Amino acid sequence: MHRGARGDLGETQRLSGPAGPVFRRSLRFFAPYWALISFLIITILLASLLGLIPPLLIRSILDDAVPHGDGSKVNLLVLGIILASLGGSLLGVGQSLLNNTIGQNVMEDIRNKLYARLQRMSLRFFTNTRGGEILSRVTSDVNGIQDVVSNTFSTMLSNLIIVISTVLTMLVLDWRLTLLGLAALPLFIWPTRRVGRIQRDLRSQQHQILGHLSAHTQETLSINGAVLMKIFGREPDEYTRFSGLNREVRTLSIRRAMIGRWYFMFLGLFGLLAPALVYWYGGHAIIRGDLQVGSVVALAAYLTRLFGPITQILTMHVTVQSSLALFERLFEYLDMPIEIDERPGAIDLPHAEGRIEFDNVSFRYIDSRWALRDVSFVAEPGQVVALVGPSGAGKTTITYLIPRLYDVTEGSVKFDGIDIRDLSLNCLAENIGVVTQEPFVFHGTLGDNIRYGRPNASVEDVVSALHSANLAELLDNMPEGLDTVVGERGYRLSGGEKQRLAIARVLLKDPPVLILDEATNSLDSQSEHAVQTALSTLMKGRTTIVIAHRLSTILSVDKILVLSSGKIVEQGRHADLLADGGLYAQLYRLQFSSSSEFQTTPALN
Ligand code: ATP
Repeated sequence: MHRGARGDLGETQRLSGPAGPVFRRSLRFFAPYWALISFLIITILLASLLGLIPPLLIRSILDDAVPHGDGSKVNLLVLGIILASLGGSLLGVGQSLLNNTIGQNVMEDIRNKLYARLQRMSLRFFTNTRGGEILSRVTSDVNGIQDVVSNTFSTMLSNLIIVISTVLTMLVLDWRLTLLGLAALPLFIWPTRRVGRIQRDLRSQQHQILGHLSAHTQETLSINGAVLMKIFGREPDEYTRFSGLNREVRTLSIRRAMIGRWYFMFLGLFGLLAPALVYWYGGHAIIRGDLQVGSVVALAAYLTRLFGPITQILTMHVTVQSSLALFERLFEYLDMPIEIDERPGAIDLPHAEGRIEFDNVSFRYIDSRWALRDVSFVAEPGQVVALVGPSGAGKTTITYLIPRLYDVTEGSVKFDGIDIRDLSLNCLAENIGVVTQEPFVFHGTLGDNIRYGRPNASVEDVVSALHSANLAELLDNMPEGLDTVVGERGYRLSGGEKQRLAIARVLLKDPPVLILDEATNSLDSQSEHAVQTALSTLMKGRTTIVIAHRLSTILSVDKILVLSSGKIVEQGRHADLLADGGLYAQLYRLQFSSSSEFQTTPALN
C-alpha cells in the first residue's frame, strides 16, 4: 500500500528508463491550463529580475552615492531597494495563487478521471484488487503528486532563472571573484546528494513502517478484528506488536529530522565560507585598487542568493522522479482495459418483457477452470426459476452473468431474445433488480437508500414501497422517519430489516426481472415471515431467478435448475424432480429429514 510513497528508492530507479513518456504524459494534464501557466512564467521572470536589483543598488550606494556625498541619491537608491523587495514579495503572492490554481485544477482532473475509470471496471477487477490498494491510489497517490504538480514546476523554473540571471550579473561585475565564489560549489554538491539519498531511504523506510502500523491498527481495531482479539484475549500481544512498530516510527523520524539538521548546519557554514572567500580576495583587490567596495559587497550578496536555488535544483530530481513513479502508477490504472463495455450502437428496450435465456453458456473466472459449462435454460416473463445445488456449483455465477457483472466466456445470455452485450448498460441496469444475501446499506438517510434505483421517486412512492416491503413499523419507530440516517455510522438495521430495505429498493425501481439470493443466515421466525411476505409481493409479475435456500420457494416455482460442478444436471418442477429420484430428490430427502426447511447449503458442504 505504501510502496509508491514519495521517495521510494526502488520506484525512482525503476523510472530511469521509461521516465520520458511518463513525463510527457503527465505534462498533458497541464495543457488545458496553458494561459495560466504563461502568466505564471511571466510572474516568475519578473520576480527573479526584481531580485537582481537590490545588490546593484547597494553597489551604487557604496561606489557612487557615498563617495560623492550625494545624500538624496542614497535616499532614492534605498527607496529603490525597498520597492524592488516589495514588488518581489507581491509577485511571490501572485505566484502562489497561480501555482495553486493550476495545481489544484490538475489534481481535480486526475481524481475525476481516475474515479470515472474505476467506476467502469468489472467485478473481476474489484475481486482481484485489495480494497485498500484502490483507496490508496485514489487518495494517497494522488495526494503524493500534489506537491510536484503545484510546486515543483514553478520552483524549478524560478530557481533556474535565478541561478542563470545571478551568475550572468556576477560575471559582468567581476568574473574572477565570481569564479572564486563558485569554486566552493562542488564542495557542497557531494554532501547535498548524499544527504538527499539518506533522507530518501529513511523516508521510504518510514512509509513502510507507517504502512504496517496502520494496517495493524486497521486489522485489530475493526469490528471483526476487535472481536477476534477480545475473544482470544490477545490484547497484550497486539499491544506489544503495535508499540514495537510505533517505536520504530519514532526512531526513524528522529533520525530523519537530525540528518536534515546536520545538513542545514553544513549549508549554513558554506553560506559563510563562500562570501568569506569573496571578501578575502575582494579585500586585497580593493587595497590594490583593482576593485571597488560596492562590487565586492554586491557579489557577496549575489553569491548568498544562489545557495537556496542551487540546493533545490540539486535535490529536485529526487522529488520529480518519485512523483513520476506515482504518475506511472496512476497511468497503470487509467490504462486498464475496460472489460464490460457498451458496444457502439447498443440498443434500449423501452418495453421490456423480461424473458431471460441462457444459450450454451460457459464461463470461467480463471483460465484453468470452468465455473459454468454449457448451461442452457429459459425463464419466460413472469416465471420463477430456482437455482439449487451444492456449494460452489455455480449458482451465484449464473446470477452474475445476467446483469453483466461478468461477461460469458462462451455462448450468450439473452434478454427478450437480444444478446445482453448488444443492450445498453443503462437499459440492462434499469430492467434488472437484485436482492443479495447481504444487502448494502450506505451511510445516508433511509429515504436516500431506498431511492437509490429511482432518485426522483416521490415520498408517497417511497412510503408505499416501505409498506409493501413490510417496513412500515420500522418507519414509524425511526426518530426522523425517512430522513433518519442509517448505515455504518447511523441507525443500525437488523439483518431482516436490511433485506426488506433491499426489497423496497427494487420495488420502487420496479424492473421486470428480479435476481434473488435468499439469505442463508437464519432469521427468527417473525423476521423470516416478514421477509418472505415482502419477497412474495416483490416477485409478483416479475421474472425471478432465485438462489433458493427455503423449501417454501422451491415447492411452487415454475422451474428448478439443479446444478453440480457448473453444469445443469436436472431441471423441472419440484414434484417431477422428486419422482425422478436424482440429485434433487437425494438433497431434498437428506435435508427434509433433518429440518422442516429445505436448506441446500449446509448439508451439501
Ligand atoms: P454457494 O452456494 O456456496 O454460494 P455457488 O453455487 O453460488 O456456491 P459460485 O459462487 O457460483 O458457487 O462459484 C462457482 C465456482 O466458481 C466455485 O468453484 C468458486 O470457487 C469459483 N469462483 C467464484 N468466484 C470466483 C472468483 N472471483 N475467482 C475465481 N473463482 C471463483
